[in-house]
Amino acid sequence: MDDGISLIQCPRKDVHQEEIQEECDEPPGIPLPLTHLHPKPQEAAIPRKAAVVLPFAARRQPKTSSKTRIFRRKFFPAATDKEWNNWHWQINNRIHSILQLCRFLDLSSQETDALGNLSVKLPLGITPYYMSLISGEAPDSALRKTVVPTVHEFFKAPEEADDPLCEDRQSPVPGLVHRYPDRVLLLAHDFCSTYCRYCTRSRVVGHGRLYPNRVRLEKAIAYIRANTQIRDVLISGGDPLTLSDARLDWILTKLRQVPHVEIIRIGTKVPAVLPQRITVQLVRMLRRHHPIWMSLHFIHPDECTPEAHRACAMLADAGIPLNSQTVLLAGVNDSLDTMTLLVHQLLKMRVRPYYLYQCDPISGSSHFRTPVEKGLEIIRGLRGFTSGYAVPTYVIDAPGGGGKIPVMPDYIMGRTDTEWILRNYEGKTFQYPDPDHRLSPLLANSPVTPEKDEGIPME
Ligand code: SF4
Repeated sequence: MDDGISLIQCPRKDVHQEEIQEECDEPPGIPLPLTHLHPKPQEAAIPRKAAVVLPFAARRQPKTSSKTRIFRRKFFPAATDKEWNNWHWQINNRIHSILQLCRFLDLSSQETDALGNLSVKLPLGITPYYMSLISGEAPDSALRKTVVPTVHEFFKAPEEADDPLCEDRQSPVPGLVHRYPDRVLLLAHDFCSTYCRYCTRSRVVGHGRLYPNRVRLEKAIAYIRANTQIRDVLISGGDPLTLSDARLDWILTKLRQVPHVEIIRIGTKVPAVLPQRITVQLVRMLRRHHPIWMSLHFIHPDECTPEAHRACAMLADAGIPLNSQTVLLAGVNDSLDTMTLLVHQLLKMRVRPYYLYQCDPISGSSHFRTPVEKGLEIIRGLRGFTSGYAVPTYVIDAPGGGGKIPVMPDYIMGRTDTEWILRNYEGKTFQYPDPDHRLSPLLANSPVTPEKDEGIPME
């Protein structure tokens, strides 16, 4: 049986081995050696490195959960803190085969049958850290369902497609999707540390075909440079934060050299599945390229661990606005209680719940998809009952490439010439008097004659 500590056997092994050699990332949670903070007497002339001051919220958090601690002790007793907290170690020790999986989970027949047939599908990949959150859980437990394949993936419903959003059709150069006028999606590469079984890009990610090589990326950046209406670039993938700092820095520098690119967004699941990746060096590099925004991918409150808290705190302290994009998944987070807990946890991590996505009809996703009414029910249960910041916009990404369409519960009940009939979160009806610009000289386009204000005494 595999000891789980061997190097990964994935097609991208060579790339990540290279990165390990070219980088020396100090993982979070490892105190810097005293020599980093206090120069030896003979080195007194060398300027001191600033000590890393953790934000208050991160300092209050325990470093890890008891669940993860017990898991580590049981399955990785030889791994030192430094290794466990190193993102390269986490990637190199990913669980990616049925043999490894058997070591951590009692597999159900539906899982075993799926794992024998994975060669043509999205590969299996789970970081040891994320495995610590699901080990010992039942096959129908929330997080386990999202990363361990089952036979349901092999059933393709008639309405499903490999590329339901038609991204390939809207791709003017390889790895770049241009759907909306002023923004593009740049696929940095196709590697993720952990593969989500409901991934919209399962036709692309994990297949080892989309490399972060200079020639391809330069073509994509040349396209962005030539199209001056593009002001917003979303870097996604695969997970861009599984690139080395140097590679990511190169992409960001190139994009920053394009004068009309105003903001850069990074789409990542790293804080949830590989929080060790958020290092001091990474955030220091990212803040050089502001304004940087991040779309994080949290789907369940169990992902909001001390490690995730700490990773988000470091990003937020670097001035990066954090938003979460959550996919609505049957049997995972399709209940008001679970979603309420998730959005509250996110706000505590300074992550704004941004989108709640209806699961896309990708091939083999029917066991994950919920009726649209379920999403509406959740939004109805949040709006008015908790902070407005905690309520995401529920969207359906239109099959065929129509883009995201917000779907709202029916708060508008009707309108007349003079008023809107509205329903509040308690189901009560209210009228809002609609200003009629044709009747009001103050609001019409005609010039307004200032009048003496009767309410204020004149000098
Ligand atoms: S992290 Fe994102 S890109 Fe990677 S498998 Fe999950 S959903 Fe897909």
